[in-house]
Amino acid sequence: MVLPYKHEPFTDFTQEENKTAYLEGLKLVESYLGQDYDLVIGGERVTTEDKIVSVNPANKEEVIGRVSKANQELAEKAMQIADETFNTWRKTKPEMRADILFRAAAIIRRRKHEFSALLTKEAGKPWNEADADTAEAIDFLEYYARQMLKIKDGMPVESRPGEYNRYGYIPLGVGVIISPWNFPFAIMAGTAVAAIVSGNTVLLKPASTTPIVAAKFVEVMEEAGLPAGVLNFIPGSGAEVGDYLVDHPRTRFISFTGSRDVGLRIYERASKVNPGQIWLKRVIAEMGGKDTMVVDKEGDLELAAQAIVKSAFGFSGQKCSACSRAVIVEDVYDQVLARAVELTKELKVGNPTDQSNFMGPVIDQAAFDKIMSYVEIGKEEGRLMAGGEGDSSTGFFVQPTIIADVDPKARLMQEEIFGPVVAFAKAKDFDHALEIANNTEYGLTGAVITNNRDHIEKAREDFHVGNLYFNRGCTGAIVGYQPFGGFNMSGTDSKAGGPDYLLLHMQAKTTSEML
Ligand code: GLU
Repeated sequence: MVLPYKHEPFTDFTQEENKTAYLEGLKLVESYLGQDYDLVIGGERVTTEDKIVSVNPANKEEVIGRVSKANQELAEKAMQIADETFNTWRKTKPEMRADILFRAAAIIRRRKHEFSALLTKEAGKPWNEADADTAEAIDFLEYYARQMLKIKDGMPVESRPGEYNRYGYIPLGVGVIISPWNFPFAIMAGTAVAAIVSGNTVLLKPASTTPIVAAKFVEVMEEAGLPAGVLNFIPGSGAEVGDYLVDHPRTRFISFTGSRDVGLRIYERASKVNPGQIWLKRVIAEMGGKDTMVVDKEGDLELAAQAIVKSAFGFSGQKCSACSRAVIVEDVYDQVLARAVELTKELKVGNPTDQSNFMGPVIDQAAFDKIMSYVEIGKEEGRLMAGGEGDSSTGFFVQPTIIADVDPKARLMQEEIFGPVVAFAKAKDFDHALEIANNTEYGLTGAVITNNRDHIEKAREDFHVGNLYFNRGCTGAIVGYQPFGGFNMSGTDSKAGGPDYLLLHMQAKTTSEML
């Protein structure tokens, strides 16, 4: 019998044995740095001259690995194989597909700290953030496998005397999975296995800054018994391979997580019916956020400051769920701001392999430049209270930055920065705070710190975000506990880790038989 789902616990790194286990993982990862990785098409390894080079964002000199890079010809080959394999994979038993996910979860659990250490090296994640990413990858495998077992027999419908009606779900076809670098394990694996366990075949194009963890995951899925051709690994450039596959007439759906701009491009291109195409493509899109934490005057102000700092600067603010706006009722504004500044100044930034660093680097030079340009904008639009400095000489380090007294309509309050920068704005009262919270084009996460029950109820109705949290921070949704996805320009509100997520990868079929 399958045990009930429970999320993978986070590792307590104050325990010596866990520390040692992580450091052993790090040693293992260091022993294989700089290796070459192939494309995987129909189970075959394909090597290309052209490579994507993955480097450590904390140390630009260190190469994590080199991955062969797909071109259009190889993408076409992968598409044909995925299309053919769909004919057999769609007929496999859901139980067998779920078993592969359970096995993969077990393999990853055994190699947990190796994967976390790899995330530290490849994505610049501090220990606890890396550990949470690995735990979430395990959760997606465990949760979606169980969800498939729940929906495999469809939903009940009525039958009249003399007829027998059934209502079930069948897979869609070939899915293109375009995954992000900020959860390079969890979201990459989660989006791929949701498609696979529901009977689709996939073409996985991981983020170009974090392809090695994806290559390792593909090996795990093979070891777990996934047949060749179901999961094809085709790293490549968005302009060449991404567009080609999004436009392809045999692409049935696209599951994308990334920026708003790329999401819109995919959504638009996918809506065009190309020659030879006989369906309307589906797009599952998780895009940006401009997430707000609201602090009410009847709230725990220490909790507020702690939660803002953690949500704004955890993984250097590189989460679409990160708090990038703190909207505080004027009676308590100065107090919360002062405490948040104090806490922020205590944070250590540096190489994330060193456990004492709260924050590592940002992902690459382009991110560093963009964030630093927003810091400059922030200095014009508000008061710099903490941080404001960056150093990209060895890695891409940005100090956690607080800008105070920002106008609710200012760029710093409207545009996604995707870095460790949080804007503070003052609200006249709670209603005004909610109004400011809703004034962006996004709607992903939000939090309210208050002990006022009426205000909680008001926010529950009017704070327009996909994930709303009370008296806690706005990051760290747990698979199966807080299904994750947002409104408006944050995406298609496809709730990852939720009970209806797999259905987005399936279509319902009614059969009716006369008895
Ligand atoms: N699910 C993550 C969280 O709740 C964020 C995912 C993302 O940044 O894409 O913090």
